[in-house]
Amino acid sequence: MTPRELLQQAARRLAEAGVESPRVDAELLLAHALGVPRARLVTLDDVPDSTRFSHLLDQRVARVPLQHLTGSAAFRHLELAVGPGVFVPRPETEQIAGWVLEQVAGLDAPVVVDLGTGSGAIALSVAHEHPGARVTAVERDPDAIAWTRHNADARAAAGDTPVTVLAGDMTDRGLLTDLDGRVDVVVSNPPYVPDDARLPREVADHDPPLALWGGPDGLDVVRGLLHTAARLLRPGGLLAVEHADVQGGSLPALVRAHGGWVDVADHPDLAGRPRFTTAQLQKRDT
Ligand code: GLN
Repeated sequence: MTPRELLQQAARRLAEAGVESPRVDAELLLAHALGVPRARLVTLDDVPDSTRFSHLLDQRVARVPLQHLTGSAAFRHLELAVGPGVFVPRPETEQIAGWVLEQVAGLDAPVVVDLGTGSGAIALSVAHEHPGARVTAVERDPDAIAWTRHNADARAAAGDTPVTVLAGDMTDRGLLTDLDGRVDVVVSNPPYVPDDARLPREVADHDPPLALWGGPDGLDVVRGLLHTAARLLRPGGLLAVEHADVQGGSLPALVRAHGGWVDVADHPDLAGRPRFTTAQLQKRDT
C-alpha cells in the first residue's frame, strides 16, 4: 500500500475510536513503525510491510496514549522517555517551566525544587536551559520515579548538569529539611484533578492515579504543598503551581488565605485557560 492510503485508513479508524487528532497520530505512529522522521513519510512510495504499524494502530484505537506507543514525549527542548507508570508531560506545562527559567535567569546558581516531578519534565528542562541551576526533583510514586531516574541519567549522560532525584512526598513535613529556607524557586505540577472530573480514556486508564486526583475540589495535595513550599523557600523565594482550568480563582485564593505570600498571580496557558499560580514568599522585613 502507499503511505497515503495507509494513513487515510488509519486516520479513519482513529477518528471512529474517538481519538482527538487522528491524522497526526496516524502519521507519528507510521513514522515510528518505519523508524523514519515524520517529514520523510511524504517521500515514501510504498510501505512493503505494515505489520508493526497495524499493531501500534490497534493499540491506539484502544486508546493507549500515543506517547506510550512511541515511548517518548516532547517537552520544551527535550525528548523524555515515558510509558506505563508515569504521567505523560503535557504541552500546557511547558510554560510554567518557562516562567521558572525567566525568574532565575539572573541568578548564577539558583536552587530549584520540582515537587511531583514524574518524568522529570520541569526539573530536567530547568537544568537543561540553566546549566548553573541546582535542581532537586521529588517524586513519591515508585513506578514513576523509575522513569524520573532513567530520564535524569540520560540527560546527565548527554551533558546536562545532573539533577538530584529524591523519593519523597511533597506534603511530608520532613521532606528536604536540609534545604529549609534556602530554595529560590519551588515549582510543581501536582495532582489537581477534582474527584468528580471526567477524563479522556488515555488519561483515566493510563496516567498514574497518584499524578491526577486531588480530592473533592482537586486541591488536597496543594494544601500540603503550600506548607512545604513556605518552609523550603528563602524569604522572597518564588512558588509556581499548575492547576486545572477551573482553579484559576480557587488556587490563588488558597495561597492568599494561607498567609505569608505576596504577589499572588494567576497565568493563562497558550489556549488562554487559567493554568498556573505564582507567588512570592514574604521577605522578613516586609
Ligand atoms: N492536566 C492533566 C489532565 O487534565 C492533569 C494533571 C495533574 O493533575 N497534574 O490530564
